[in-house]
Amino acid sequence: MTDWMELERRYYMFVVRRQPVVILRGQGTRVWDVDGKEYLDFTAGWAVNNLGHCHPAVTKAIQEQAATLMQTSNQFYTTPQLKLAQVLVENSCLDRVFFSNSGAEANEGAVKLARKYGRLHRNGAYEVITALNSFHGRTLAMVAATGQPHYQENWKPLAPGFVNVEYNDLEAIKKATSDRTCTVMLEVLQGEGGVNLPSEGYLKGVREWCDEQGLILIFDEVQTGLGRLGTLFGYQWAGVEPDVMTLAKGLGGGVPIGAFLCKEKCAVLEPGDHGSTFGGNALTCAAAYASTEYIISHNVPGHAREIGEYLRRTLERLQRRNPMVTEVRGTGLLLAVQFGADISGKVVAACNNEGLLLNPVRPNAIRLMPPLIITREEIDEGVARLERGLAKAQASQG
Ligand SMILES: *Cc1c(COP(=O)(O)O)cnc(C)c1O
Repeated sequence: MTDWMELERRYYMFVVRRQPVVILRGQGTRVWDVDGKEYLDFTAGWAVNNLGHCHPAVTKAIQEQAATLMQTSNQFYTTPQLKLAQVLVENSCLDRVFFSNSGAEANEGAVKLARKYGRLHRNGAYEVITALNSFHGRTLAMVAATGQPHYQENWKPLAPGFVNVEYNDLEAIKKATSDRTCTVMLEVLQGEGGVNLPSEGYLKGVREWCDEQGLILIFDEVQTGLGRLGTLFGYQWAGVEPDVMTLAKGLGGGVPIGAFLCKEKCAVLEPGDHGSTFGGNALTCAAAYASTEYIISHNVPGHAREIGEYLRRTLERLQRRNPMVTEVRGTGLLLAVQFGADISGKVVAACNNEGLLLNPVRPNAIRLMPPLIITREEIDEGVARLERGLAKAQASQG
């Protein structure tokens, strides 16, 4: 039998320490590896598979579109792109959309838009304020936006015009604002940074400051969009509207697509300003349309809210049984379990053996982001596997 891990060691760039699981297929909340072992997937392709793996509505749309038309270039109109644009705009507070291929690219487009706005309406202002512990992607500009030193160190000199300030500190944003500032870009809830919630009044305060100063407020909803927090978009959960919103992960039902949307007042891009060969192609847009339409028409965000509460309560009961768990935080189906020691690597490895896939978001915290269609039975089963994995990790810790 092929040794896939050996092939990876030999041929693939060593950019990630992978879990020793070679996944062959997925269905709903579960995946199976090459040996036929079954796992509950509480990573959902990194908050991507909001409808689970290979949802029939998405698979059917891809099959039909793949046999009809995949790619034309944006010189021409195509119907899946425009159907997707319509459903996103009509169900959000934003007025216009552009499609990219990833989250980082969506954020790049959003920052370009904000800089053009600054050029036109704020005397050439170009600077972008972002938060520490944020995550905005891996392109050269987005590592400057991402306020985590370990993502920045090797790529210096960083792209100029980005200022990273403390999250949940409105005064820090006010102090960093100058004549050069054109935009503030934030996650409504920091995902990759450890599942960090905005404090009471923070986002509302930032909104008011941006209005007062004429700054564009960008919400990076690459992780929080499309139902993850129990509302279609995270800004609805936060109760604060952005001027620009970016999406990716959960948008495509599993295929790579990103988007940035803006309000009419800052729709400043003109022909020639921005573009993408693959962005908005018929194939990924058909998949994203099928997924988004299903999420809206079946009230998947409402299910995520309810089932997320159930998962949280189940984890809180685990916390009462095991003092190693010191906190359960997050909202909807974007949750973290905090430990009293740096054992998340061991917990994730032990849970793999128990048949549960997790993300060690911090040395002392795991992130849970299962498909939004998860059932109570699957949650009970997943948390039972987590409890067994945690106990084994603790035993091996001594
Ligand atoms: C994952 C993520 C990105 C980057 O998306 P890619 O598709 O990997 O480029 C950007 N912002 C947030 C909040 C993310 O979670």
